[in-house]
This record gives sequence, structure tokens and C-alpha cells, in this order.
Amino acid sequence: MPTISASCLAGALLRQEVLDLHAYHVPDSSGYIKLDAMENPYLVPPALRGEIAEAVAAAAINRYPDPGAASLKDKIRAVSGLPEGIDVLLGNGSDELIQLLAMAVNKPGAMLLSVEPSFVMYKMIATFTGMRYIGVPLAEDFSLDLPATLAAIKRERPALIFLAYPNNPTGNLFSSDALAQIIRASPGLVVVDEAYYAFASDSFIPHLAQYPNLLVMRTFSKLGMAGLRLGFLAGNGAWLGQLEKLRLPYNVGVLPQLVAEKLLEHHDVLLQQAEQIKRDRAKLYRQLSEIAAVRVYTSEANFLLFRVANATAIFDGLKQRGVLIKNLNGGHPMLKDCLRVTVGTPDENERFTAALKESMHEVK
Ligand code: PMP
Repeated sequence: MPTISASCLAGALLRQEVLDLHAYHVPDSSGYIKLDAMENPYLVPPALRGEIAEAVAAAAINRYPDPGAASLKDKIRAVSGLPEGIDVLLGNGSDELIQLLAMAVNKPGAMLLSVEPSFVMYKMIATFTGMRYIGVPLAEDFSLDLPATLAAIKRERPALIFLAYPNNPTGNLFSSDALAQIIRASPGLVVVDEAYYAFASDSFIPHLAQYPNLLVMRTFSKLGMAGLRLGFLAGNGAWLGQLEKLRLPYNVGVLPQLVAEKLLEHHDVLLQQAEQIKRDRAKLYRQLSEIAAVRVYTSEANFLLFRVANATAIFDGLKQRGVLIKNLNGGHPMLKDCLRVTVGTPDENERFTAALKESMHEVK
């Protein structure tokens, strides 16, 4: 019989930062109308799925994937409009790229800076890679507080800055001018995270060649490929060549490479879906703004943030009615009574608004 329990051993051996962390929580969504995770609600048309199925059947899954993924990268370059001379590094989702960047710059005492509220993984990854972290509060309307951000950059000299453009969970697009000022003032690397690029009106990709300390990060998760886990960094080869050394050789499997390539050959289909989602976002925005007790925020992403009294009770009411969204109440002081709903199909959006009205009536 062992004399020491596994939990005692784990407590003694693991780093304190790890013991203190709470795992990224993904709730069980089975049976719900799932509007909590910014997924594209649509599959691609059956004919294209058939084509993919045939390619999958013939795939050499007995072999390791192409480590350089040259053919997939070419497709990504083409659909993303990357300027000449800009390289691509692939990640198993963009989460993996955030981690890779943190590992790369993490000299003793190095700091990661972001704004708050924003994507929680920036702070979480800083914590578990042992980096110092600072989250500069956004202004009350969720725009960048430029003087405070510039002051923090001057004071802390962060090695790495993440700015989500558009921001999650607020949905707004920061001022491009403010972003440019931050990039220019920063002594470290600035990563503009364009996870929601397909729904937004602007991008920093055309400016990549202009700033030596800028990288743009994107994911295909919100464009209908969340299940594939594929993200990329775009930037100068001087950065990506070094970062490539930290990428595990086979981080993007044979099937994700193959399926993503097929889907990107039909990028127009995905973009049409994104256009539909944008139209439905506008409709959902109008419907929510017509509810007197709801304050809805404008969004350039595939979700809407809104504020309502007793948000947690409303969230529970929605869940009881079979609709799962994201409860942000309690996550950050600026998100008090805030909920976030992903734009779904027109039918899902109708069922969500009906369930919201019923819940609000009940909670009153
Ligand atoms: N960046 C932002 C701003 C996000 O909201 C998300 C997903 N919620 C990601 C990155 C990570 O996306 P993935 O790992 O699916 O590529």
C-alpha cells in the first residue's frame, strides 16, 4: 500500500501557479440550443461534405502529418490576402499560439499585457507559463483607455501584448488609430488577435509589413471549423522562423490539414455564411435593443454582449428553456449583469429572444 496519496504528491510536486488555477470551464451543452461558444451554426453543403468524406477516406492517417503543411499554408495565404514576404505559423487553435508566444518571450520577469475585460486565456496562459501579467481596464464604453494603456506600456515595458480586434467578450472593434499608437509605443511584440475577422470591418493584416513588432493572429474556429482546431500567426519571417522552433512538429493533424484545405478551397461558401451571420446579428441587435430593460452593445463579432438586471437569474431561466448562452456576471467587475449570446441560425435566434422575454417576465 502506498504511504502517500496521489493528491498529496501532486500538491507537493506541482507549481503553485498550477495548483491555484481554475481550469477553463466548458459546460455540458448536450440537448441545449448552443449559443455560448461563438461557433458558426452552419455545416457546409452536403455535396462538399461528400467530397471531404471521400478525401478523408483516402487520407494516409497511418503517417505523421506534413510538418510544414505547405499546401495548407498556401491556401491560408491566398484566402487571407497576406502581403508579399509575410510568413505563416500554424497552431492547434489559436490558444496554442498564445501559449507558444508566451513561452518564447518568457525571460525572467517578462510581462504580458492585455486589456480587461478581454479574452481570459491571455491571463490564464501568462499565469501558467509563469509570466507577470497586467490587464489595463478598458474605458466604461469598452473602448481602449489609450492614456492608461500607453502609461502601463511605458512603466512595465511588456514583452508581449495581446489585443483582440474585435474584442471578446465585448464585441467592439477598438480604434485602429489607438492600436497603431500602442504598436509604435511598445518595446515588445504586439499581437493583434483577429479571431472574429470574418465578421469585422477592419484588419491589421495590410499593416503587417509596416511594424517590425506586429504579428496578426487568426483562427478558423469562428468560420465553421471550431472542431478542426486551426489557427495561425502571420508576420515577418524573422519572428516566425524563431517561433517555429517551439511549435511541436505535428501540432496540426493529417485530418485537420486535409479538411481545412478543402474548406478553404470553398472559402466563398464560408464567407457567405459569415455574411448571413452578420445580417442575423443586425436583426438580433435590433430585437434586443427594442427590449426596454436590455442594454445591448454593438458588435463586429458573431456574438452580442448585453446587460440585464439579475443576469444570473435570466441566464438560469434561459437554460431552463433549453438555451445555453454565456454568463459573464461575476467574471469581471465591468461585466456585472452581462450576458453574451452567439448569433445562431434565424430559428435559434428567435427561440433565444422568446426565451429571454419569458425569463425576464418570470424574474421581474
Ligand atoms: N482569441 C479570441 C479573442 C477568442 O475569443 C478565442 C476563442 N474564444 C480564441 C482566440 C481561441 O480560439 P481557438 O483556440 O479556437 O482558435
